[in-house]
Amino acid sequence: MSDCVFCRIAAGTIPARRVAEGPNVIAFRDAAPQAPTHVLLIPRAHVASSAADLGAAHGALLGEVFALAAEVARAEGLERGWRLVTNVGDHGGQSVHHLHVHLLGGRPLGWPPG
Ligand code: AMP
Repeated sequence: MSDCVFCRIAAGTIPARRVAEGPNVIAFRDAAPQAPTHVLLIPRAHVASSAADLGAAHGALLGEVFALAAEVARAEGLERGWRLVTNVGDHGGQSVHHLHVHLLGGRPLGWPPG
């Protein structure tokens, strides 16, 4: 989608600080980090606007997202732990409507989130 910022990042038409890539998923640093490590993992293709659109057909893609997240966490030295978050909709705090997962770490993370 030409008006989607994450599609543009995936296409390389707007810059992002990429940290890892898989066949169908890319990982790049969030522009407004909320923790010492704050990386976003997105499908290269606009397969879903959020987790609300996911189903069994997306299983392999989600496996790739989780595997790449674990690879990034290891590379970032997050031995003490980390968190994956995907926000859905207004109340979930979603601002970009291209499926993405936040990888957060590098400090103790509070629970429950705000
Ligand atoms: P969410 O609010 O869950 O939809 O997350 C969207 C995230 O994308 C926010 O944490 C933003 O800081 C981040 N973001 C938006 N535009 C960019 C960009 N061009 N490069 C990197 N991160 C971005």
